[in-house]
Amino acid sequence: MTLPQSFIDKYTQLLGDEAQAFLESFDKPAVSGFRVNPLKAQTKEFDLKIAQTPWSYYGKVSGKSIEHVTGLVYSQEPAAQMVGQIAAPQKGMRVLDLAAAPGGKSTHLLSYLDNTGLLVSNEINKKRSKILVENIERFGARNVVVTNESPERLAKVFPAYFDLIVLDAPCSGEGMFRKDPEAVQYWSEAYPSQCASLQKEILNAALTMLAPGGSLVYSTCTWSPEENEEVVEWLLEQEEQLSLVPIELLNGMVAGIKQPQTARMYPHRFKGEGQFVAKFQDKRPSQASVKLKPGKSNLTRDQLAYWQAFAKDHLTVSLKGLMQVFGEELYLLPEGLPDLSKLKIARNGLHLGTFKTKRFEPSFALGLALRPDEVSRTIALTPDDFGRYVTGEALSLPLDLPNGWYQVVVEGNGLGFAKWVNGTLKNYFPKGLRMK
Ligand code: SAM
Repeated sequence: MTLPQSFIDKYTQLLGDEAQAFLESFDKPAVSGFRVNPLKAQTKEFDLKIAQTPWSYYGKVSGKSIEHVTGLVYSQEPAAQMVGQIAAPQKGMRVLDLAAAPGGKSTHLLSYLDNTGLLVSNEINKKRSKILVENIERFGARNVVVTNESPERLAKVFPAYFDLIVLDAPCSGEGMFRKDPEAVQYWSEAYPSQCASLQKEILNAALTMLAPGGSLVYSTCTWSPEENEEVVEWLLEQEEQLSLVPIELLNGMVAGIKQPQTARMYPHRFKGEGQFVAKFQDKRPSQASVKLKPGKSNLTRDQLAYWQAFAKDHLTVSLKGLMQVFGEELYLLPEGLPDLSKLKIARNGLHLGTFKTKRFEPSFALGLALRPDEVSRTIALTPDDFGRYVTGEALSLPLDLPNGWYQVVVEGNGLGFAKWVNGTLKNYFPKGLRMK
């Protein structure tokens, strides 16, 4: 790979003896990885487990595979996977992922939360927020709201609210050069400092939202000290209540430059791409969770009755949360959220389904989020049926079943709901996701 001369000079000086191995790593292929989703039925064994991680593996998973389409795996390169592992929220926490698309860190955080507490997953870019919604939906978590906001506007609604905030900041992306060689074109000597100004602005908004006693994880996929240790230094200087939490250096991670508590990942040391991570703790005593004016349920009596009739016939669990209707669409929001009506929302919690004339139709997202043992009627597809279903085909199957809604199940995991009508499974796989 051809690297800018000023990049080579900078890292030759910074890395000394190690510079040659570092620079040579750019001519080696990028490392791929994926995480297994603990919210889904564990019906597959995978090879090449990454040491000292709960869910991580080396390797590539096809976007057309059953494990990808049912949300059993999420592709993410190994260094990026360390951010979620360092953040490791405890169950029940209120968590914010402030720069979240396409969703690698958010889905990892959701693995730890295990459908408890809540995640606000925010992405400022509208197009990217849609991809984030799709990825979160496939992951099948029930406790997520996706917002499409600037950090500043979000901060007005969530003052001192979150127990954990992850800022995986927009950065100069040096650590992505191998994965995405075009990123080299955007790089210039001045770029890291420009990014650092934006990172500081976003951090200011993040701090407004951090609850006393909470933690903040700051990460970038770049090696420039301007965006990493220097931003950490700046934050510690202006925020006396913050201190660094030492990060355990696993699998070839190294300490930050003159900052032993932070961590760097270089491709010649750690089998992955580039990453920097710092974890801060707010030293003020934690207080009882801030109570903000909550949102209210707005279902009509009829709508509630249609939902209840569906749930009684089809679900073996009761779903907890606040139900709200937007147009004809029914959503389940995590409990304890403030009123979100002033925010741009990309996903109002778990989409349960749509009210049609005098009935309720379950959503694809609901069929991804429920485990088959939480649904009373399911139809299992063979891998061959799956291949036809994802192209949009209706399936005639040799089953003797009453007509109605069934969860479609493939290799033990849900793939939405579909209607069974006189021996045919109608196709409800979303048009936008269909494969040729
Ligand atoms: N956390 C993501 C993941 O793991 O999949 C990757 C996030 S990427 C490194 C940084 C994100 O920050 C981008 O999606 C970008 O759109 C967003 N961003 C850009 N400018 C921003 C700003 N001013 N405030 C907040 N986010 C911003």
